[in-house]
Amino acid sequence: EEVRVYEFAEKAGKSVADVIKVLFNLGMMATKNDFLDKETIEILAEEFGLEIKVKDVLEELDYVSAYDAIEDDYLEERPPVITIMGHVDHGKTSLLDFIRHSKIAEREAGGITQHIGAYMIQKDGKKITFIDTPGHEAFTEMRARGTQATDIAIIVVAADDGVKPQTVEAVNHAKNADIPMIVAVNKIDKPDANPDLVKSQMAELGITPSEWGGEYEFVNVSAKTGEGVDELLDTILLQAELMELKANPKREAKAVVIESSLEKGRGPVATVIVKNGTLKVGDHVVCGVAYGRARAIIDDMGKMVKTRTPSEPGMVVGLDKVPPAGEIMIAVKDAETARMYAERRAEYERQKELSKTTKVTLEELSQLVKEGQLKKLPVIIKADTQGSLEAIKGSLDKLKNEEVKVDVIHSGVGAISESDVTLADASENAVILGFNVRPTGSVKEKAKQLGVTIKTYSIIYDLLDDVKALLSGMLSPVI
Ligand code: GDP
Repeated sequence: EEVRVYEFAEKAGKSVADVIKVLFNLGMMATKNDFLDKETIEILAEEFGLEIKVKDVLEELDYVSAYDAIEDDYLEERPPVITIMGHVDHGKTSLLDFIRHSKIAEREAGGITQHIGAYMIQKDGKKITFIDTPGHEAFTEMRARGTQATDIAIIVVAADDGVKPQTVEAVNHAKNADIPMIVAVNKIDKPDANPDLVKSQMAELGITPSEWGGEYEFVNVSAKTGEGVDELLDTILLQAELMELKANPKREAKAVVIESSLEKGRGPVATVIVKNGTLKVGDHVVCGVAYGRARAIIDDMGKMVKTRTPSEPGMVVGLDKVPPAGEIMIAVKDAETARMYAERRAEYERQKELSKTTKVTLEELSQLVKEGQLKKLPVIIKADTQGSLEAIKGSLDKLKNEEVKVDVIHSGVGAISESDVTLADASENAVILGFNVRPTGSVKEKAKQLGVTIKTYSIIYDLLDDVKALLSGMLSPVI
């Protein structure tokens, strides 16, 4: 899709004359009605130091925004959708399994569970959906795509092991996504379990237990004996009630993909959780660049179902391609409409390619600070030792000036990981600062793809100097 000179100027907030002048300096004679090709747009953007943002075509569709509108005549309560996160081996899988197996009977006896990426249970007649791919990768991927299936995050911490790096990561991911957290202190059956230690360690992270005057619920559980699991579910339901989660089951569906694959005999399949409306077998759907018709919907008991209402998970068969996790699926009126939006979306993705190379750089960030447009500088800090990490964090804290402050959205000891990059991508303008640690090749590649800035240092003062320069809006373009 081509853009005319005046359209570019309009979008870039520059005068047509300025754009024509730059083009002229580049050896291109242009008038305001001339078309600019992709390459020229890229060059222009660079000249003007712009980030090209291409509007998501799907966002243009009124039914998408309409779905999110609050004023709706048919709003009904919907069940909460839960993601379990935490450090490896702290019992995420065990807890998910225990909940599933102990509560399935309450729903339907004799059913055989099928892994589709999410399942639903009932507690005292109230439903809860669990996303059963534990870990925060999918969670953050989704957020980076601007979608979120999760309403509440359960942070699992083993009572015999305490808070560990991935616990901190999980907390930061949930915090940054603005998702309420409930802490499940697991392995309470173990003789060396020390739930109070977990509480004080979490309080140090700002996750203060309600019994200590904080706003977070902590529940002692054992995924082995089942102790405390009912209480955990009650706590989830209570939190959900406070959130007043609502949706309108009477409209066409909007759902989020949480898992997808290509299956023998079935073709592309996507497990979705319905966010709003009701998804029905036979619906024409568009799902990013994929589209098709929901030929069949399979639930978490492996049963063919006719419909999925808000918060219900279902595996949809009938798309022409495998959509990525985090993609939104929308039901539209006919096949033609579905195809049209999928094509427009493909075009959007092509245009988005453009923006990757022009995502905000450190220099531009500095400029934003200078212009007073940036009040917070979000950073992720990774260091080789706890000592240096503390030293850096301490010094950064002192650096804040009146107008701007450094906001450490995540920090940790260890190499710069893909998860750090995803988090930076999901948090606007965030940069990753490494001290005596480096990203691996694949992490570097991912950062490059997403346009995330990674800077590494071996001298603390250099790191602080750069941040200082950034904060004063005086960063020299040398770094
Ligand atoms: P994940 O990596 O967080 O998914 O952790 P897993 O669920 O795989 O659990 C790791 C190990 O801890 C396994 O050997 C589990 O059997 C064990 N485990 C998990 N929960 C409990 C619990 O509540 N009590 C005890 N004693 N062991 C548990």
